[in-house]
Order: sequence, then structure tokens, then C-alpha cells
Amino acid sequence: MTYSNVKEIEDLIKIISKLPGLGPKSAKRIVLKLIKNREELIKPLTNTLAQVYKNVVRCKICGNLKSINTNCICSSNKYEQICVVENIADMWVIESSGIYKGHYHILGGTLPSFESKSTGNGLLIESLVNRVKKNSVKEVILATSASIEGETTSHYISDCLKNIKVKITRLAKGVPVGGEIEFLDDGTLFSAFKNRSPITSD
Ligand SMILES: [Zn+2]
Repeated sequence: MTYSNVKEIEDLIKIISKLPGLGPKSAKRIVLKLIKNREELIKPLTNTLAQVYKNVVRCKICGNLKSINTNCICSSNKYEQICVVENIADMWVIESSGIYKGHYHILGGTLPSFESKSTGNGLLIESLVNRVKKNSVKEVILATSASIEGETTSHYISDCLKNIKVKITRLAKGVPVGGEIEFLDDGTLFSAFKNRSPITSD
């Protein structure tokens, strides 16, 4: 038994140190800060977390996060471009760079490079095809990573869209091979977006 051995605190430190970028040391600092500021931090944090847990869900159409109390942005106006990304972190990076200001489609991962892709592997690909048809989208920008899985996924998607009259573009090779969108700097991302090229089916 030590002075710091309070079960509630230990539990909280364990949970917080599971968050990205945080180890046990910074988790301890956060917990101390929280306890020192019970009213200003713990109370609103508890309420907000409960709200997020209860109300925030993933949209089954576009894959973005939405509140159950509001309509998802994908059901709003008509739009001509959709940027397809693997995950929400990728979308946030592209969004905050300001390069692209349009609609997104979050697949929820990539297809494995080695397995059969006939089912789409639980990714939101069928709903992407439906969105493109329904909104008469003019361009689908494939912004998946330049990894083998990212390439496999983008090929598969362009194959699914081949019977629809839509321009399909892929980010240019400003994205390094094996590179993940999430970790790119703005300059690389900018050139990759600017130099995106149409996909030709062969
Ligand atoms: Zn949506």
C-alpha cells in the first residue's frame, strides 16, 4: 500500500494512459489536474462523455460521426464531389489543410490485399456507390493511403463505379509509398491533391 494507491485513481490512470500519445506519466498528471479541478473539469467532462456515449454514432451512409439528434451532413444539399478516405482522422487532416472543401465518404478501413474482395469486407463501399448515383456526383476523389491495401481498395472502388458516369481521380504520388494520410504534412498533402490523376481502367 502506498500513498498513491487509491483504486479509483489507479483505474482512471489506467484508462487515460490508453489514449493515443499518453503514457502512465502524463496520465498521472492529467488525473491530478482533474482532481484538483473537480467542479471545473470533472463535472463537465463526466456530462460531456455521457452525452457523447449516448448520442454520437457513425452514419451508416457516409461513415462520418453524427449526433442522433441531427441529420448527417451527407443527407443535406446536393453535391458534385466526394472525397473517399479510410478513416475519420484522414478526413480531419484534409479538412484542416483547407485544400478541399467538399463532401467526404469514410470507408472505415481498407481491404486486405490478399483476400477475396467480393464482399467489400464490411467497408462502406455499397453506400458510396449509392451516394454517387443518387446525387449525380461528378467526381470521386480516392484519397486512400499509398500502401498496398490503400491501392487495392481504390482499385476495387473504381471497379465498383465503372458503370456509372463519374470521373474517378486518385491522389497523385505526393503521398509516399507506405505513407498514411493522417501523418502527412500540409505541403505533401497539397501537392498530392493538386496532382491527383484520373484512374484509367485497363
Ligand atoms: Zn452521413
